[in-house]
Amino acid sequence: STLYNVDGWGAPYFFVNDDGDIAVRPHGAATLPGQEIDLAKVVAKAASPRAGGGLGLPLPLLVRFPDVLRHRVEALNAAFDYAMRSTGYGGRYQGVYPVKCNQDRHVVEDIVEFGEPFRFGLEAGSKPELLLAMSCLAARGNPDALLICNGYKDDDYVSLALMARAMGLNTVIVLEQEEELDIVVEASRRLGVRPVVGMRAKLRTKHAGHFGATSGEKGKFGLNAAQILSVVFKLKVIGMLDCLQLLHFHIGSQIPTTALLGDGVGEAAQIYCELARLGAAMRVIDVGGGLGIDYDGTHSAQTDISVAYSLEEYAAAVVAAVGRVCDCKGVAHPIICSESGRALVSHHSVLVFEAFSASAPGRIDPATGYLLDELTDDCRADYRNLMAAAVRGDFETCALYADQLKRRCAEQFKEGILGLEHLAAVDGLCEIVARGMGAAEPPRTYHINLSVFTSLPDIWAIGQMFPIIPIQRLGERPAVDGVLSDLTCDSDGKVERFIGGRHSLPLHELPVHGTRGYYLGMFLGGAYQEALGGLHNLFGGPSVVRVSQSDGPHFFAVTRAVAGPSCADVLRAMQHEPEVMFEVLKQRTDGATAAALARSFGAMPYLSFDPEAASMASGEGSGMSSDSEG
Ligand code: PLP
Repeated sequence: STLYNVDGWGAPYFFVNDDGDIAVRPHGAATLPGQEIDLAKVVAKAASPRAGGGLGLPLPLLVRFPDVLRHRVEALNAAFDYAMRSTGYGGRYQGVYPVKCNQDRHVVEDIVEFGEPFRFGLEAGSKPELLLAMSCLAARGNPDALLICNGYKDDDYVSLALMARAMGLNTVIVLEQEEELDIVVEASRRLGVRPVVGMRAKLRTKHAGHFGATSGEKGKFGLNAAQILSVVFKLKVIGMLDCLQLLHFHIGSQIPTTALLGDGVGEAAQIYCELARLGAAMRVIDVGGGLGIDYDGTHSAQTDISVAYSLEEYAAAVVAAVGRVCDCKGVAHPIICSESGRALVSHHSVLVFEAFSASAPGRIDPATGYLLDELTDDCRADYRNLMAAAVRGDFETCALYADQLKRRCAEQFKEGILGLEHLAAVDGLCEIVARGMGAAEPPRTYHINLSVFTSLPDIWAIGQMFPIIPIQRLGERPAVDGVLSDLTCDSDGKVERFIGGRHSLPLHELPVHGTRGYYLGMFLGGAYQEALGGLHNLFGGPSVVRVSQSDGPHFFAVTRAVAGPSCADVLRAMQHEPEVMFEVLKQRTDGATAAALARSFGAMPYLSFDPEAASMASGEGSGMSSDSEG
């Protein structure tokens, strides 16, 4: 637990139990002792064969905990509620979930359902996101819940947002650019729907970290002071200034400190008060996203992967800044909205994958010593000097001759003078000497059964770090330092930087072949990773299980289980037609091979061929079906 700092980044949801496994408290600190869910048992249930009572799902496996989502929604609302009540704030908190953080249907539906008592709403940044947000809020949302429409807007997007308002959804069209105003005015006249409009302000407050590029005067989005005034003027002229009701801004994700947050919110609150002074019917200040996650558990503002405040301190800083400015200006306290995404969904899922093999430690075959005598004279001179330096304990000279010897041998190999055996013997010799001189053994490479590009895209794309640790054997001291290498044929498909500035991860020796697998978990990755992942090398996403607390034997129930995409699914995503491909290949095989081939493709609903029947005819076992409800 201390080695991986689980209590630092995992509290209150993840901890190491007495069995040395990672366990989950789905209701945070309110989880009853003894009712925590052992993650290894969930994986065993999901991955064991159906014949053995499991679900037979292939790994990697995304384990979702809806109870954690509920706890996050409640904790966020409780934090604002407390900050407002304890300071006598006159407005209320009414947050929205930015669906871009994770558009998974069940995640969005859960948040809207758990947020209903708090009038919790949704934020959309594109037409498909708006459609899903509309249908979800219409089906189960609180009637007052906000539907915030951000992002680039064309006429179609604006018309859709106006339709949402006509349907009775509390929709606000947030102008990100001045030009969008004309589109909104024109569409609202055409459709006969009076819009509620917000404006995204470009603040001068700038957050310096990776996620702050969106903020400051040169930020990509928002209206500057002159553009804000211009919008107000235009709305006034056409008698629509009462439509302007919301001010939005977004300083950037992972805001490092409450000092910076308070600074930005204070600046925005001044703009809010100015808009009220100019006659707009202001009601809501929307402080955007940015509520950060402490990925490394250090609670520090020094890196992009940690933040120096708690949820409660974040809410208190927002409420204090808005209250202070409005009190000074004599403006009524607005509804405070936040678009916290990362902070709501990061904890709710764990990606579990298996390390299925590890590179062997450097090995030298003692029977190859004679090959060294067959080296050319100059190589043998290097070899003698190397050994003499080793005997003297002169590490630097040793390294120098080792380098020279290897380089010379490589050149002679290219000229055809030396064979592969000579190269291997020289490499082995240099490694023995280096270790004898106390050089650290290089980290071993653990091969993991996923694609970094599909499942951990932020690690590859922006160097983000997530806690990655074994989910079992945590009572046992790890004996190996390892790096992780994925299944893709791409040298970027690896994980070599870990939390704590480490270039390797303490890992255990893999179990001997045939025993239980060695599983690792990537934690706090519930935001952004699922939609960002691509299909590099055509590796599809993970299997997914939804796990709730229950009175069952291990205090959990798998309430939904879906196998990851089959080969046919990912091929279809690239416009291939698996059924046609299969028919072409089938011409060249007999029935038994065709059955095996069909199973390689996975589920192909449009196929006339029945692989089960063919495999039974040929006496083979059946493949796994790709979709199951537990
Ligand atoms: N709102 C807007 C406009 C954003 O651009 C983002 C993401 O960067 C968010 C909300 C969500 O931010 P976070 O995940 O930091 O809460």
